[in-house]
Amino acid sequence: MIVLRSDLLTGFKNKLFEIELKTTDNNLVLENNKLTCQLSSKPSKHGFKISGFIFNNIVNCCDRCLQKYVLNNKIKLTFLISNQKNDNIVGNYDLLYWSDKADRVNLKDILLETLFVEVPLKKLCSNNCKGICLDCGNNLNNKTCSC
Ligand SMILES: [Zn+2]
Ligand SMILES: [Zn+2]
Repeated sequence: MIVLRSDLLTGFKNKLFEIELKTTDNNLVLENNKLTCQLSSKPSKHGFKISGFIFNNIVNCCDRCLQKYVLNNKIKLTFLISNQKNDNIVGNYDLLYWSDKADRVNLKDILLETLFVEVPLKKLCSNNCKGICLDCGNNLNNKTCSC
């Protein structure tokens, strides 16, 4: 996910970014191998402040019924792109270091890190998931069996 310095300098608001991204991590599989986000940029002291949403299209596998599901919620995100390696004014924001010489910046890693935090430890397609029958392997959400 490449953003050009010229775009950052101009600034953008609610701009939609979409890239093809096939992750190598089995815990982080994205639906259709796409990463989509909507971002705004404005200048900050040593660079730019980026804020917006990532669309959470992580494909999870339910612990109970083993069906795949996607939450499709929006994950809020704010971070700073800064030319200071140790910027002590960042507060709670993640920081992406960026050399003054670079004419573009890749947001992929910081977006993936943010997404990765959203991978739940306990994965359930719904709180009411009935799971699978241990006798016949039937998905009890779809039909009841007579075991
Ligand atoms: Zn389930
Ligand atoms: Zn059964």
